[in-house]
Amino acid sequence: MSRDELTKIILPEDKIPKFWYNVQADMPHPLEPGLHPQTHQPLTPSDLEPIFARELILQEVSSERFIEIPREIRELYKQYRPSPLFRARQLEAALQSNCRIYYKYEGVSPVGSHKLNSALPQVYFNKVQGIKRISTETGAGQWGTALALACKHFGLEAMIYMVKVSFYQKPYRRSIMELYGGRCIPSPSNLTESGRQVLARDPETPGSLAIAISEAVEDAVTRDDTNYSLGSVLNHVCLHQSIIGQEVKMQMELVDDYPDIIIGCCGGGSNFAGIAFPFIPDKLAGKNIRLVAVEPAACPTLTQGVYAYDYGDVAGFTPLMKMYTLGHDFIPSGIHAGGLRYHGESPLVSRLYHDKLIEAVAVKQNPTFEAAMLFAQTESIVPAPESAHAIRVAIDEALKAKEEGVSRTIVFNLSGHGHLDLFSYDKYLSGETEDVEFSDAELKESLRNLPQI
Ligand SMILES: *Cc1c(COP(=O)(O)O)cnc(C)c1O
Repeated sequence: MSRDELTKIILPEDKIPKFWYNVQADMPHPLEPGLHPQTHQPLTPSDLEPIFARELILQEVSSERFIEIPREIRELYKQYRPSPLFRARQLEAALQSNCRIYYKYEGVSPVGSHKLNSALPQVYFNKVQGIKRISTETGAGQWGTALALACKHFGLEAMIYMVKVSFYQKPYRRSIMELYGGRCIPSPSNLTESGRQVLARDPETPGSLAIAISEAVEDAVTRDDTNYSLGSVLNHVCLHQSIIGQEVKMQMELVDDYPDIIIGCCGGGSNFAGIAFPFIPDKLAGKNIRLVAVEPAACPTLTQGVYAYDYGDVAGFTPLMKMYTLGHDFIPSGIHAGGLRYHGESPLVSRLYHDKLIEAVAVKQNPTFEAAMLFAQTESIVPAPESAHAIRVAIDEALKAKEEGVSRTIVFNLSGHGHLDLFSYDKYLSGETEDVEFSDAELKESLRNLPQI
């Protein structure tokens, strides 16, 4: 078939990448080191060993360009990878666009998002080391679901601290975690010292991702059989997600096309990194390709934050990382794309943004839901509200190209489906979704509390 006939571009199982791509090998400026939260000295691997598997620590600091994917993980990837790349023909027609728009669909994973790509290797490398139990936090529940499933595959226990407000708002995500055999409790809880402290101050607190991280880290530090796991932000998570972009490259070759623009939504940065980083070598070699990260206007880490050392959590347990941040005690408003409500950003995405190899744009909730609705009505898939941020910008880029009278090839990552986000869609459909204004005063306040390095 010619490229203009194909709608679903699929690769056979044996094209699942055999290596993860590590962008650290190609960055013009290497990352500055993580710092110990108390001493502010550069981290050593032994600082991280109480909570992370050794292999993951090696990946975190590796500058090897390609890191082999163990056979056991490739076997499990086979259930849903390679994921399809779709040509968005109905959407193109609705926009009367002269662009070719494609989307990589990560919602085909059994948990409905890209998160399983990293949950599987993270649990595997812990199992190899004899760890019996993994603690983690989850916001809206996607990461907790992926971790619970990966733990079941490899015979480990999963202990998931879920932000309290989501625990009660999204009960079905908890059901799935429990169905997979994971234990999921609302955070803050009375099981940890950090949870008890927060509850003593405010028994009615809705919780936050940064509080849940403190609880999960404390859980792992205080038990020998337990390690901690994080679903985004860290270098090894971006590494694992690189299979997305590597597959996209092969799929674009199949239709003899190449992207002018790659777009991904950006919370902690892992799905954007996954689709974009494998194109960095091409860009460095002079290819004219734009890599665009999309964030919510209510939590505009890249576009309004500062590039500085900061903590990943509220309590200051995590290492200090140089990243774009809104301040570790910035509390983003309760927007519906829960997965994008994080004060910080992957240090890798941050560095590349700082070096102008990638771009960022912030979009508001209502136009984002509007794009999601057009997408559902044309391409039939109900997108996750997070993924809808990428759709918004793909549509905007197509409209801009039409105005300029040019045709471009636009590729975006559809990081997950929205079947468990119907609560949020109901709010939008009944006109209750607000475009919260981002407050400069609040940002100034939270930036005042950045650690002095
Ligand atoms: C978690 C999540 C995100 C945001 O996380 P990143 O690490 O920035 O990718 C985006 N989309 C979906 C569907 C998610 O589950």
